[in-house]
Amino acid sequence: MLYRRLPPPFERTGKEIGLRFGIRALAVNSDGRTFENNRYLAKSQKKISRLQRRVSRKPSGSANREKARTALAKAYEHVKNQKTDTLQKLTTHMVRDYDTVCVRNEELTKMIRRRPYAYLLSDAGWVEFTKLLRYKCGWYGKRYIEIDAKFPSVQLYSSCGSKNAALAENKNIQEWACPKCGAKHERAKNAARNTLIEGLRSLTSE
Ligand SMILES: [Zn+2]
Repeated sequence: MLYRRLPPPFERTGKEIGLRFGIRALAVNSDGRTFENNRYLAKSQKKISRLQRRVSRKPSGSANREKARTALAKAYEHVKNQKTDTLQKLTTHMVRDYDTVCVRNEELTKMIRRRPYAYLLSDAGWVEFTKLLRYKCGWYGKRYIEIDAKFPSVQLYSSCGSKNAALAENKNIQEWACPKCGAKHERAKNAARNTLIEGLRSLTSE
């Protein structure tokens, strides 16, 4: 039996990071850095729509319809490859830059209906993103921590740990100051920070 030889581990950086996934931005990290969603599907939408119309115009069962269907599948494949390439590069950088990566187990995956190209239609990439992060952390000797989806990462103030349930209910609140300690928070960065804090805490309580 052949075993894949593991690559040499990346050097230790002494840094750790938490991530918050989103739709508008792919992710925000606990330092406040935003990783844009490149929206490859949106960019190719015109072409894909045109190909879809072409498929529907051809008589079903005809060779021309088959040809049009192949062209459409190719266009989808192209979008998928662009996306995978971006995620590959991004996750490699992240695993190189940080020793520990904390993410929240996003139960949202269940919300994405399982049909071909569904994740492309949603055009978010974080399911694949976490998958890549997990195995690359394993490959390169880094630590991947996934915390429970029920963890209220948005509602906690990362400065002092006090909680405000209203923050989860009202998604329009993007910035606020903690009434207890006065620290200013930005929604996504705060959630990413809480994810990091909780991930590191789970390590020490093991
Ligand atoms: Zn506070």
